[in-house]
Amino acid sequence: MLETHLQSLSTFRFQNLSERGGINHFVSTRIGGLSLPPYESLNLGFHVEDTPETVLKNRERLAANIGIPLSDFTIAEQVHSDTVTIVTEEMRGYGASNLDTAVKATDALVTDVPNLCLTVLSADCVLVLFFDPQKRVIAAAHAGWRGTVKLVAQKTAETLKTKFDCAPADLLIGIGPSIGPCHYEVGPEVIAQVEGTFGGRDGYINDKGPDGKGYFNLWEANKRQIIEAGIPAQNIEVARICTYCNAHLFFSERHQKGRTGRFGAGIMLSA
Ligand SMILES: [Zn+2]
Repeated sequence: MLETHLQSLSTFRFQNLSERGGINHFVSTRIGGLSLPPYESLNLGFHVEDTPETVLKNRERLAANIGIPLSDFTIAEQVHSDTVTIVTEEMRGYGASNLDTAVKATDALVTDVPNLCLTVLSADCVLVLFFDPQKRVIAAAHAGWRGTVKLVAQKTAETLKTKFDCAPADLLIGIGPSIGPCHYEVGPEVIAQVEGTFGGRDGYINDKGPDGKGYFNLWEANKRQIIEAGIPAQNIEVARICTYCNAHLFFSERHQKGRTGRFGAGIMLSA
């Protein structure tokens, strides 16, 4: 990933998505906002008991920094589902300045509407951005362990193929920072679901111990399910940045034991 510092804000971009023109995209960090502990400082989440006015100021600060008006953001409610929602012009600004208007009960947003910034939020979960430069369609998905075993990233890719006629070979994908296989310890009940979905745990769960716990590799599980949808591996960039290891830079729910803010990933087609 490429890191940018501008006016005290620090953001990242995927290399593969930056090489093509036609979009603006970002992965935000926790650096450069106004929120107080435990949400310091660029918390973008309205749902985490931070002061709403401060969250709004943080969002406005990020929007100004990346050059997209906040009123052009469309943000998902996120409920750990596999629901993919196609965002239309009427949904411009949904969830941008409050939680009430967020796109309900969905974890993936897809659109071909230009100048509309699809945004998903995280504190350890995987955020995945999609771009088809040929058909000019974009998507943003959120996947924790539930979304990963429900194949939300794969279903997003399938939606791009079936609803927008995207050719798998044209799709460029970025898998963002999340809790890594170094720190994402999960219990036997999660491991059972991983095995149920993927037909085994090889490459998905590392170091399964006598207590039945192991380390879930969200990056590999999301990459493989996208490859299963026909996307060439070389089109997929994995940030390989662990939010727990880099809790100074990204919000990590595990690292902060629950109470923390949210960073975001967004993507917008330029007109
Ligand atoms: Zn780590």
